[in-house]
Amino acid sequence: MNETQLMHYSRHILLNAIDINGQEKINQATVLVIGCGGLGSACATILAGAGVGQLILCDHDTIELSNLQRQFAFELADIGQAKVKVLTHYLTQRNQQISIKALHNKISSALLQEYLPICDVIVDCTDNSATRHLINQYAVRFHVPLVSASVIQFSGQLNVFDSRQTISPCYACLFPLQTDDRRCIHNGVFSPLVHLIAAAQAAEVLKLLVGFGHSSVGKMIQFEGLNFETYRLNVSQNPNCSVCRAFHAKVDV
Ligand SMILES: [Zn+2]
Repeated sequence: MNETQLMHYSRHILLNAIDINGQEKINQATVLVIGCGGLGSACATILAGAGVGQLILCDHDTIELSNLQRQFAFELADIGQAKVKVLTHYLTQRNQQISIKALHNKISSALLQEYLPICDVIVDCTDNSATRHLINQYAVRFHVPLVSASVIQFSGQLNVFDSRQTISPCYACLFPLQTDDRRCIHNGVFSPLVHLIAAAQAAEVLKLLVGFGHSSVGKMIQFEGLNFETYRLNVSQNPNCSVCRAFHAKVDV
């Protein structure tokens, strides 16, 4: 670690749970962030600041005025530009010790197959059920931990799935069927809650990379922004899950 890195990351290195060894793990990690809207841009900003060595950002969307209520990496002058490109520039201005790859694409099977073999963690910041199920399938197949979050109106939800652990549930264990999407564009979203959940998502990524704290695997964390109540619900593997049951059966053979 060079002198600039030692200074940049000094406040994390001072934490016994991270220290220099943990910081080096963060610096050597590759994290794929899918979706660069409210959750993704805020989470990626924390991960870039913390020194995640390689960030791969994937998003197909462009910046609109209604995004600026909660997506603070973007400015008025950025309207109409690709989120992933503007976010990459924003993050590069904050940390030039890391590398960032920008994928201006919808996430696809081909991209997941290309990038998951080099990823340590996937961060799902997408806003639709079909994409979440697709990401989950490949997370299970490639044994890459998945930190998934969503926010709608005043409610936020966070899940950590880790298919390296044979007892871990997957996203499809929890949500077996594709559901009708409840999206911010139709239902609204409370801006501060987006940042709160994105920060929790980044915290789970750093915990996974370094290996400290209590794992949230097997828990569904629900945060209610109106009263600041937090619920931690146990989530078990579904023995009939169409995704991870098939995978474990294949491994057993
Ligand atoms: Zn499953």
